[in-house]
Amino acid sequence: MAEDSPELLRAAANKKLGQHFLFDPDILKRAALASGPVEGRDVLEVGPGPGGLTRALLDNGARKLVCVEMDDRFADALQTWPEATQGRLSVERGDAMQISLASLMERYDLTAPIKIIANLPYNVGTPLFINWVLQSEQIGEMALMFQKEVAQRICAKPGSKHYGRLAVIAQAVTRPRMAFTLPPGAFKPPPKVASAVVVTERLPTSEAYPHLEALQTVTAAAFGQRRKMLRASLKPIMSETVSAEELLNSAGIDPTRRAETLSQAEFRKLTSEWLKVQPSSSKA
Ligand code: SAM
Repeated sequence: MAEDSPELLRAAANKKLGQHFLFDPDILKRAALASGPVEGRDVLEVGPGPGGLTRALLDNGARKLVCVEMDDRFADALQTWPEATQGRLSVERGDAMQISLASLMERYDLTAPIKIIANLPYNVGTPLFINWVLQSEQIGEMALMFQKEVAQRICAKPGSKHYGRLAVIAQAVTRPRMAFTLPPGAFKPPPKVASAVVVTERLPTSEAYPHLEALQTVTAAAFGQRRKMLRASLKPIMSETVSAEELLNSAGIDPTRRAETLSQAEFRKLTSEWLKVQPSSSKA
């Protein structure tokens, strides 16, 4: 990181790219190992920046590390690292939102289940996370730094003010937990809000919910009008033949309840019942 490329310490942080850097070796080691050992594992890091976390991942024994970085100043510097020359570190230039996980895994010959470990740019953290959740068969664990509020939304339980679509979708295939939080002053330059590292572990196949596309449709309707009773909020996704009330009754859920009170198990049941009443071509 800084030692490898001191000029980068002076490089102006690009706000549009969510650049808030970490330089404290203890924090970086904590983030690198938050999801357990990286020794012998293949790892994807999005947004290595000046490379503090990258260095911690390499020093702690990651087998192969692929970094996706949009800022050429950092990509150029990382490419000069000895590990890059030796082939243990690969740098992919570009927008992580546009690069599929499958293509990265194939091109760099990564072995599943990989780990994804990153201090994510705030502006694209949530959509990147959702994409990874939807492809979770390839991913063993993730340790991701988000704005604290996003981290709370991922880990939230029913009834809490943070509970919503993100929690239901994340918890359908992973077990998320908040590993630690950091104040703005831990970063250079400091962001406006606190941050937190979320660690997710993939659920065993027998416990993961397979119909994620349908779950996204049902949760979008249910939480789209959060304050409404489910019998009203689900109306837009119902056909003429089955009413929202009938669907809820078949799932054993009181139609006057609101989305924020439904457990993960109830959302799964509701989604599976909803799928049963869809025309076969649209079943996910
Ligand atoms: N990992 C470094 C650290 O902890 O010090 C930097 C983290 S900084 C919060 C986010 C990094 O993501 C920046 O280096 C930024 O250039 C990069 N970045 C922002 N948007 C990106 C995108 N869409 N795809 C890939 N990298 C991106």
